[in-house]
Amino acid sequence: MSAAPEVLVAGAGPTGLTTACTLLQHGVPVRLVDRRSCFTPEPKALVLWSGALEALHRLGVADALAERALPLNGASYWSGGRRLAGVRFGGLTGTRFPRPLCVPQPVTEELLYERLLDLGGRVEWGTAVTSVTTADGRAETGLTRADGTAETVSVPWLVGADGTRSTVRESIGVPYGGSSYDREFVLGDGRIDGDLPPDEAQYHLSPDGVLVLVALPDGGHRIFFDLPPGSRTGPPDAAELQQLLDARGRGRWTVRETWWTSRFRVHTKVAARFREGPVLLAGDAAHAHSPAGGQGLNTGVQDGFDAGWKLAAVLRGADPALLDSYDPERRPASARAVRNSERQTRLWLLRPRPARALRDLLLGALARTGALERRIVPELAQLELDLTASPAVRSGTAPGAPVPGRRLGDAPLRPLRGTSATSLHDYLATGRHTVLVAGDGPAAARAAERATAELVRRGLPDLTDVLLLLAPGTAADDPEGPAGPDLAAGTLPGTPPAAGTALACLLRPDGVVAATVALDRPDRVDALLSALPTGRRSTAPAPRGPRCSTD
Ligand SMILES: Cc1cc2nc3c(=O)[nH]c(=O)nc-3n(C[C@H](O)[C@H](O)[C@H](O)COP(=O)(O)OP(=O)(O)OC[C@H]3O[C@@H](n4cnc5c(N)ncnc54)[C@H](O)[C@@H]3O)c2cc1C
Repeated sequence: MSAAPEVLVAGAGPTGLTTACTLLQHGVPVRLVDRRSCFTPEPKALVLWSGALEALHRLGVADALAERALPLNGASYWSGGRRLAGVRFGGLTGTRFPRPLCVPQPVTEELLYERLLDLGGRVEWGTAVTSVTTADGRAETGLTRADGTAETVSVPWLVGADGTRSTVRESIGVPYGGSSYDREFVLGDGRIDGDLPPDEAQYHLSPDGVLVLVALPDGGHRIFFDLPPGSRTGPPDAAELQQLLDARGRGRWTVRETWWTSRFRVHTKVAARFREGPVLLAGDAAHAHSPAGGQGLNTGVQDGFDAGWKLAAVLRGADPALLDSYDPERRPASARAVRNSERQTRLWLLRPRPARALRDLLLGALARTGALERRIVPELAQLELDLTASPAVRSGTAPGAPVPGRRLGDAPLRPLRGTSATSLHDYLATGRHTVLVAGDGPAAARAAERATAELVRRGLPDLTDVLLLLAPGTAADDPEGPAGPDLAAGTLPGTPPAAGTALACLLRPDGVVAATVALDRPDRVDALLSALPTGRRSTAPAPRGPRCSTD
């Protein structure tokens, strides 16, 4: 391992931790600093949707998260005490996470942090980024420690994951445009007496504002309201929360105890650029959301995963142009998530009576036609990525092949050789690149063997897997046979190749299709491997580090 890591990550919130874990999982050392002394105790974000869960699964933390989470089974909209609309979660297909999980943010951060330590990483707590300048393609970064000592480091790559008031973003002068709502928000997490849904989010819309109720994993609930700004300061007390709950919940519920309360303003902003030379912006440093729809942390985790695997590929010898795809992939995805939160917040905040009446009618109609489940839930889940125009995917596709730039959905697998994965996404859970060859004929088998041999020749087998996918009924000739491509039986999601044909696709670590080829000749697989953005630089795992700065 090189003595001085070539990536510095500013901020050890969920975004920075995801970035650092992804780099380490790809064998690339990283320096991670945070001005706090330990991870957040504030349970701000609650909801993890499928897109972020898939990224967290590839980092090996999703199962542990699921054990501490409450699966959310639906949401409902109410007005004047009347249920207007309901939407069931759990109907998403092609993912092992068909419904969102409710997990308080400290749990997500703690599990990412444990993973970071297991991967040999550490956080330099009590270390703030104070300045950043860029020169000669490097980021000169000023760091100040809690004990007052200072250091300036020069790194080829800096990831600014330092939250909404990002010093990194401000230092490099990237505009952060958008607006702030003219309402403030108060919330309380605690135990509420009364008849409450155990596994659902409820939105109670009233002329005065909204009451949001969300079930928490430990049997408690979050209550959440908007208010005109400036009437009070500081976190709300139980009396204020009870008064609001009585007014908007029609006297049905009582606040028994609270363990976290907060009063805050909400902004909706997207940075003008997510990359400025050697600096990448990620998470809240690049986009600010209303909490409606629970999009902020989810988007940040996916930024971090994307920045992490691309930086790792470049630091292991891939063409640095790969990082030109970071902004065109992550900025539109983030802007879409910000728009979704904003749309929902505006629905909550409608005041004129005719507009509210129209909103209520519309919500009822959308629910009745199933449009909320078909259209809105997949958007919030952030699975519908369209990266077809990204410079990191090859255009053009083979007949019956998955489309480059689209995420490949999950599908069951029957493992035959070299793998025990029982689904495609389990197979992809290493977060490595994958050459997936589909077809039963000799062309497919020869192409898969050729890809395996070529990866060995290039010294890349630990960075890229090769899976030969045979028709569902196929039996393995020799399950214990010589090492070759991994073998499984199953059907490619989407259109399976016609009988007698074979195709191969290159899957990126995030499960997005990077390129496809028809295997009318086995050497076509070489064209696919030329799209593989990896070189070779070996690294050794580091020992496990301490937890917080006080350890
Ligand atoms: C009430 C509330 C509810 C929310 N609910 C949801 C939800 O349900 N779902 C969802 O997805 N999102 C939700 N969010 C948003 C979510 O909390 C944020 O999007 C998320 O925390 C962003 O993560 P991050 O790592 O990008 O930034 P942060 O969590 O802000 O982390 C930034 C880190 O950088 C550090 N830092 C800052 N400046 C410096 C510096 N100069 N040098 C070094 N370190 C620095 C900070 O100490 C911090 O640790 C909610 C937010 C709030 C307030």
